[in-house]
Amino acid sequence: MDAAVSFRIAAAPADLTTFAACLRGTLVRPDDAAFEEDRQIWNAAAQGTPLAIVRAADSGDVATAIDFARSNDIEIAVRSGGHSLAGYSSGDGVLVIDTRDLRGFHIDPDRRLAWAGAGLTAGEYTAAAAAHGLATPFGDTGSVGIAGLTLGGGIGWLARKHGLAIDALVEAEVVTADGVLVTTSETQHPDLFWAIRGGGGNFGIITRFTYRLYPVEQILGGALFLPPTRDVLRSLVPIAASAPEELTTIGFIMPIPPVPFVADEHHGKLSLVLMFVYAGDPDAGHAAIAPFRAVATPFGEAAMPMPYPGIYEFTAEGATRHPNTTRSVFMDVLDDGSVDAIVDALADAPPMSMVQIRVFGGAMGRVSSDATAFAHRDASVMVSIMSGFMESEMAEAATAWNRSLFAALEPKATGVYANFLEDEGDERVRVAYPGDTYERLARIKRRYDPANIFHRNQNIRPA
Ligand SMILES: Cc1cc2nc3c(=O)[nH]c(=O)nc-3n(C[C@H](O)[C@H](O)[C@H](O)COP(=O)(O)OP(=O)(O)OC[C@H]3O[C@@H](n4cnc5c(N)ncnc54)[C@H](O)[C@@H]3O)c2cc1C
Repeated sequence: MDAAVSFRIAAAPADLTTFAACLRGTLVRPDDAAFEEDRQIWNAAAQGTPLAIVRAADSGDVATAIDFARSNDIEIAVRSGGHSLAGYSSGDGVLVIDTRDLRGFHIDPDRRLAWAGAGLTAGEYTAAAAAHGLATPFGDTGSVGIAGLTLGGGIGWLARKHGLAIDALVEAEVVTADGVLVTTSETQHPDLFWAIRGGGGNFGIITRFTYRLYPVEQILGGALFLPPTRDVLRSLVPIAASAPEELTTIGFIMPIPPVPFVADEHHGKLSLVLMFVYAGDPDAGHAAIAPFRAVATPFGEAAMPMPYPGIYEFTAEGATRHPNTTRSVFMDVLDDGSVDAIVDALADAPPMSMVQIRVFGGAMGRVSSDATAFAHRDASVMVSIMSGFMESEMAEAATAWNRSLFAALEPKATGVYANFLEDEGDERVRVAYPGDTYERLARIKRRYDPANIFHRNQNIRPA
């Protein structure tokens, strides 16, 4: 069944005051007390000053806002969790259409389905589903919005066991560029459904997602704090890739924070903080992480049974807003040259720099690369170089260091994850959508957004 509801009104409002009166939600303008907080996004380096922020109360508000922006030739930015690395959910003079107040959550534990408003964060959804012993795969940090995360693919703690967030997506409600609410799934507007599973916010504004759930109760979760030597880094990918699929690891090479499970003398030392989730029997989880301990004696460790949402407490610091710049690559292998480049760069890194290494395989890799617009199913590894800088004086050195390591790794890259791209130009967007993925997306873009009004994103130009 095709479902489409049009919210179009006879004439779009011509000024902000009339527009505000047409909304069920709120229009936040620069003079309003809430504006300063509402305009904040995670990457403070990309923070803009919008014309106004529409805190939409429903799909009708979203359609009205699209109509208003189109009729008055105002650029649109779409925001949910506000964690866009590129800062596309903000901008100077833009109308931010903000879905963060769409917070409905309904779960049917028997059918293992959940209906979630686009404003929920991964942490909020995960906590609500965990009350039923169920989970949907999202990312590594609880504060990230399910909307932006899902639309790019959604790679997280359950990637090897249950796949990406898009692999659990069953249906979505999308307000398209002409203000029509469309329900999309494998059987309803299947081209749109293919495109939103990896193609980002190019095709419309999602107001609700329906996801499949998996039984995930107690996990073994935590971190091993390993010395970041060449030998340890060379062993990381082979060990993580051959581990049982229940085990997904994310390694952060960074100074050890002052955590209780590492002796004080090691705090501040550079370490491979190998965080992990073993989504299965905790005893089997201990066996699965044992090979990492055999490579080098950890400075310390925390490996404990916990309810699945507990892992988000380990990454809660990730919610902190600060100026930041990231470069990222997918790779087939982490070869010795790349390990050398990472180790050498980290020996001389500015403060707040880190390298993140994710190892894939398992369920995420079993989906065919043309089944969704996220096409990097055969990637083995993702290396991301992340540089924060609190003071603007630090920005230049942090960026130079970041780009120098990126230049060393990029020749070996097999692609890039759209959700880990900043504003890096059209060529890099094409790297995110290899083969004929980009052209296929461009044809779908022409159908759903021919005027490219949704262009503050990793933009697909209409064919
Ligand atoms: C600390 C941190 C940790 C991260 N960890 C992971 C991770 O483990 N795995 C992973 O896959 N990604 C991760 N990411 C990347 C993250 O998935 C993307 O930045 C994502 O776009 C953020 O979504 P958001 O809703 O929070 O962001 P927003 O800034 O609100 O949105 C980002 C973009 O998504 C689109 N968008 C947002 N909401 C909608 C909507 N309702 N309808 C249509 N389009 C919309 C828009 O184009 C918008 O510009 C992380 C990012 C950060 C900052």
